[in-house]
Amino acid sequence: MTSTEAVTAGFQELYGAVPDGVWAAPGRVNLIGEYTDFNEGFVLPLALPHTALAAVRRRDDDVLRLYSADLGAPQVELRTEELAPRGDGGWAAYPAGVVWALRQAGHPVRGADLYLTSTVPTGAGLSSSAALEVVTALALNDLYALGLTRPELARLAQRAENDFVGVPCGVMDQMASACCTPGHALHLDCRDLSQRQVPFDPAAHGLRLLVVDTRVRHALGDGAYAERRAGCEEGARRLGLSHLRDLPYPELDAALTTLGDERLRRYVRHVVSDDHRVRQVIARLDAGDVRGIGPLLLAGHRSLRYELRISCPELDLVVDTARAAGALGARMTGGGFGGSAIVLAEEGAADTVAGAVRTAFAAAGHTAPRIFTAVPSAGARRLTAPTA
Ligand code: ADP
Ligand code: MG
Repeated sequence: MTSTEAVTAGFQELYGAVPDGVWAAPGRVNLIGEYTDFNEGFVLPLALPHTALAAVRRRDDDVLRLYSADLGAPQVELRTEELAPRGDGGWAAYPAGVVWALRQAGHPVRGADLYLTSTVPTGAGLSSSAALEVVTALALNDLYALGLTRPELARLAQRAENDFVGVPCGVMDQMASACCTPGHALHLDCRDLSQRQVPFDPAAHGLRLLVVDTRVRHALGDGAYAERRAGCEEGARRLGLSHLRDLPYPELDAALTTLGDERLRRYVRHVVSDDHRVRQVIARLDAGDVRGIGPLLLAGHRSLRYELRISCPELDLVVDTARAAGALGARMTGGGFGGSAIVLAEEGAADTVAGAVRTAFAAAGHTAPRIFTAVPSAGARRLTAPTA
């Protein structure tokens, strides 16, 4: 049975009817450009083969029924007209928040039955939350014939996470899930959401991109994102800029001398140099020099570790071990303090590198990491043909 047939069967068993269709939206990893999105800078994510799936049926009333096959939790039933941000922390806030955001924006969305399941690891920095939001947004866009573009859907999904769930994320995750294409990374300008598909196909170059999920999440991370974000905004303000994106890289050193605060100097240096590294990585990918991005990934990790200071021992162990075992490059990805790292290695060396990371984790007494290959995959899509 394909996964499409499985969610269709699950939907039918739960709701006693046939779904109108099945949709998919992937998780993502970011190749480079970290903590740049809320500074209106640049990011370069790619979609994972791991997806959230939704079998959905439109309803004629305002009842919204939500079910996640992964949680074994009871089905949640809400009224679309009564949706309001509550910040109760429940998983249903992600899809319900999308319905809320669509309705807030004036779109005529009413009831629906949703059956959801996902292969995106949760809480690993791989955006299982965005996958859930985007699959919901795309399904409702189709079923209610809203005619919204993918960037518009991504913005609404971000709004759902910011204002309904209560997580102050940037727009990268939702844009990656909505807009990525196979064999590419997505060069995204987080100011105006302009984008370009940049060829990135490690296998075609005899390479492999590994994702290492450290399976740790340090509590320290909870307040750190808000603190770094506030620090970046303060840095921009003191430099007389709307956002750090507006500081050209060649002017970075001169600008830093005018910033008295050592902490703000580190944050500004990270953001502006990471924006620059995004451009450098893209130049090398466009030139077909995929191996050449390795040193830039390592430089990105050093910046996150020593300037922004959002790494942790487990992430540093992945990067240091992978490098020592012959990887071309590696860096932590996502919000930090745990979650995942990426490793770029020659195809012939990838298993050795993965083995070295596993051994190092065991020797350090850490939980065994989850390691898989990140094949740049498709963004959100409908899996079943629309019926007339
Ligand atoms: P990440 O996006 O990095 O995976 P988040 O904390 O942003 O981590 O989102 C994880 C949350 O998303 C989970 O705690 C859960 O509420 C929700 N979620 C993700 N996948 C599923 C799923 N398959 N079923 C139900 N909820 C899910
Ligand atoms: Mg998330």
